Amino acid sequence: MVIGINCGHTVSGTVGCGAVGYIDESVEVRKVGNILMTLLAEEGHDVISCTNDYANSVNDNLSQIVNMANAQPLELFVSIHFNSGGGKGCEVFTYGGKRFDEAERVCENLNGLGFVNRGIKDGSNLYVVRRTNAKAMLVEVCFVDTKTDVDLYKKLGAAQIAQAICNAITGEITENNGGLTMGQYEELKTEIKVLKAENVALKAEVDNLKNPMIYNYIDDNMPLWAHEAVQWCIDKGIIKGTGDGLGLDDTKLWVCVTMYRLANSLN
Ligand SMILES: [Zn+2]
Repeated sequence: MVIGINCGHTVSGTVGCGAVGYIDESVEVRKVGNILMTLLAEEGHDVISCTNDYANSVNDNLSQIVNMANAQPLELFVSIHFNSGGGKGCEVFTYGGKRFDEAERVCENLNGLGFVNRGIKDGSNLYVVRRTNAKAMLVEVCFVDTKTDVDLYKKLGAAQIAQAICNAITGEITENNGGLTMGQYEELKTEIKVLKAENVALKAEVDNLKNPMIYNYIDDNMPLWAHEAVQWCIDKGIIKGTGDGLGLDDTKLWVCVTMYRLANSLN
């Protein structure tokens, strides 16, 4: 998918910057949005940055964002914001309040992380929703001026919010993971990878047990460490083999080696 991501407003403290409460909207949208862009790119999507950091006015900021979004055909435009005004939870604005899958899943996934789901709302009057050509959604993660929202946001961290929005875009539901931090989540992912690799190795071993290697001749197929011992066993008449060859498996190779070493140590 070709996806435009906008970190809402200009940078903190400049003309057109976002709301400030317990946290600063301009700062947090950039944290969430930048991680979101990385996650989407890692999943193979074409990500277009539609963030405008400095502007002469709010309108200038908004029109620059829309110009960046409309400079190429996008399949989805996402603008990241944080709310203010003392409410609680997350909401998503779409044109005409249209309930499309990505928007529904953003609400569900942020709700899965513990935020109140305020649902999908009509964002037809919002400049970036109205003026972008692509299917658009403006995400209000939570309220910067509501302590419980901010506490939860800080506990989760920007990365987990970005992951939830990424999952919503790509079609995955984010379950409440029982309060795992992103670090613990990454650790778990690594552990699962290691387990998978071990599983593959185990399967190969089981396969080997079911179909053991048979060595009929002292040649390149036989492990080098067994050559001398097997030759000695043949010379001493300890093993004979059949017309088809020696018929030695790994265990028998080891028996030959053990006998050979024992004989050497007795001499
Ligand atoms: Zn905003």
